[in-house]
Amino acid sequence: MSTLDTLIQRSQAFATEGFTAGLPLMPTLRTMVISCADPRVDPAHILGLKPGEAVVIRNVGGRITPGTLQNMQLLQTIGQVMGANPNGEFNLIILHHTDCGINRLEDRPELLAAYFGIDKTALPAKAVSDPHASIQIDLAVLKASVPLPPSWKVTGMVYDVNTGKVEVIVPVESIQTHPSA
Ligand SMILES: [Zn+2]
Repeated sequence: MSTLDTLIQRSQAFATEGFTAGLPLMPTLRTMVISCADPRVDPAHILGLKPGEAVVIRNVGGRITPGTLQNMQLLQTIGQVMGANPNGEFNLIILHHTDCGINRLEDRPELLAAYFGIDKTALPAKAVSDPHASIQIDLAVLKASVPLPPSWKVTGMVYDVNTGKVEVIVPVESIQTHPSA
């Protein structure tokens, strides 16, 4: 049986056994996860997410890049169009991990600089090989870049691909981006 055959068979099993009709578009856990595209690091598995529970953005490294911010802006606008309460509590989780493939790009600074939208000389500040540092960096980038409501709770996590365990690096906190806050 080919890989495609296997996946089609699994999709048929999902349609009959795992599918829930009528799920709302808005995430029922009021949660967004930003994580790596790494096949070992799927938030649906690591965080036990079920269909409809969370919005997930995945990219190389789970990093806050101009592209990530653009996606977040579009998603926020969809929420506004859907009439979501902009002041309601919302959870934003940034999930980085050990042994990330982005480490293999350290000798390709031109690729990484373009990815982050920065000059090559600024790359060391992105800490691409240190997930504990990169979580802190991306939280700071996020706070400086996006006018998120104060009611959004932001958490950083590092997943260890050798143990399967998640470490909460930044405790839950409200993001404060308004000058008056
Ligand atoms: Zn990765």
